[in-house]
Amino acid sequence: MALKVNQAVTIHYSVKDDKGNKIDSSEGNAPLSFISGMQQVIPGMENNIEGMLIGSKKTFTCPAEEAYGDYNENALQVVSKSEFPAEIKLEVGLSYVMNDGQGRQIPFVISEVAEENVTLDFNHPLAGIPLTFDIELIDIREATKEELEHGHVHGAHGHHH
Ligand code: ZN
Repeated sequence: MALKVNQAVTIHYSVKDDKGNKIDSSEGNAPLSFISGMQQVIPGMENNIEGMLIGSKKTFTCPAEEAYGDYNENALQVVSKSEFPAEIKLEVGLSYVMNDGQGRQIPFVISEVAEENVTLDFNHPLAGIPLTFDIELIDIREATKEELEHGHVHGAHGHHH
């Protein structure tokens, strides 16, 4: 079941990939605040917070399609090496950001290097990976009109102006 939209949600979280490697955590930092229904967090997060009580904890695993999406073979692109400036190192695993000409920054990883060409992978680095979260619900309430206009949570756990 999906979380109601326009809720100001504050959580502490820690997230691991399917091999148990820790990817990210709010431990030692401020908790994460977001407004539900605005695609500020992955869908699996909102689905699992539904019904939780303030102060409670939960561990859950999001399949890739509820996290950063399935791995898409069509997001691979073969490009001639000559299209890159000479100072760019072309090695497997290096990541760069490309400007799409419309002001958007598109990150990619070099996934293969051949004699003439390189293969660029435009998938999100976590595409295709199920993620396991440990979360603690610090607070949940209706977002205020001002928070909805700004698109972020205000107050103790949120944004300060
Ligand atoms: Zn604001």
